[in-house]
Amino acid sequence: MYLHLQSTIDDAQRAGVDAAALQLGVRLVAPESGAQLLEGAQLLEIVSAGVPVPERGQVVSAFTVLPGVIEVLDRPGEQPLWSATRRPSTVVEVAGAVFGGGRASIIAGPCAVEDGGELLEIARAVQSRGATLLRGGAFKPRSSPYSFQGLGQRGLQHLKDVRESTGLGIVTEVLDPREIESVLEVADMVQVGARNMANSSLLKELGTVDRPVLLKRGFGATVDEFLNAAEYLLCAGNTRVVLCERGVRSFDQVTRNLLDVGAIAHLRGATHLPIIADPSHAAGRSDLVRAIGRAGMAAGADGLMVEVHLDPSAALSDGQQAIGPDELEALVADAGVLCELDGRTLLTGDHQTQHPSLPKIPTHLRGTA
Ligand code: PEP
Ligand code: MN
Repeated sequence: MYLHLQSTIDDAQRAGVDAAALQLGVRLVAPESGAQLLEGAQLLEIVSAGVPVPERGQVVSAFTVLPGVIEVLDRPGEQPLWSATRRPSTVVEVAGAVFGGGRASIIAGPCAVEDGGELLEIARAVQSRGATLLRGGAFKPRSSPYSFQGLGQRGLQHLKDVRESTGLGIVTEVLDPREIESVLEVADMVQVGARNMANSSLLKELGTVDRPVLLKRGFGATVDEFLNAAEYLLCAGNTRVVLCERGVRSFDQVTRNLLDVGAIAHLRGATHLPIIADPSHAAGRSDLVRAIGRAGMAAGADGLMVEVHLDPSAALSDGQQAIGPDELEALVADAGVLCELDGRTLLTGDHQTQHPSLPKIPTHLRGTA
């Protein structure tokens, strides 16, 4: 048997674990094999200290009540931590937004932070339309090295200022483990972008931080690879993970990516982790964002992340897919109605959604995901 500890376990918690081991008559040792399966996590093998190791039930009840302990395993990595068989649902609360457990929220803002004054204007605009978190990249993972790479530290400072003026929680992307510390000074939720979904060094580091992570699906990643990326965060001790489906690459160029609504519906049942949809990077064109956002919510998403700009034609990145505040308001209203259809609630701060724009779907057609 193996004992899986949180990587953030402190000395006092570890002393409690050692005392429980002593009482059970077992020793906790570094595992001989299989440790690489859970690299980043603290995994210890439970071995005899002279007397036979007690039976599993006794070991489980002695250790799993202790702070700092995740679980007792028969084999390392035997049952993934993301699996819905482990717990019914994870609810991630971030600065007034809630994802999962029947509640949904909206993240909105520019693709990139471009200017402090403009960011504040966008923040106020999305806040008054029902967004509870502001997004905006200071470090941008651009396809071309010649494109705008983000304002970096200056962008973080703008986000910090806007957070103070509006009270909105901030979601911003981190590209490099060396930038985590400065991003954490600003971010209420840290975004891992599609291009970094499989960056295990970054994931291992973020697994040890005390901040929720928004993990975007890679555009060429299978659902299994996506969940394995989440597993890196979970097994290192960060349990506040929100998945984000943002579209996968398809053979067709009509949209930038193809929002995988089937994956959203599947993930609702397969994992306890919340999942949101990003219709902006799926659509790649502002005229389709609302329809694709609706589709994500109808498939069971626990919220949306939407790119909003006041002057999309002047945006330094992803202007072609940015919508304006009024279009966001319409999409938020749609999302509220779609949540209601399956008994969930969209949290929109003080904002009241005023334009329910979808007809009621008859009960017999409602999904049960
Ligand atoms: C973004 O959210 O601005 C972004 C770069 O998205 P993705 O990582 O999904 O391409
Ligand atoms: Mn973008």
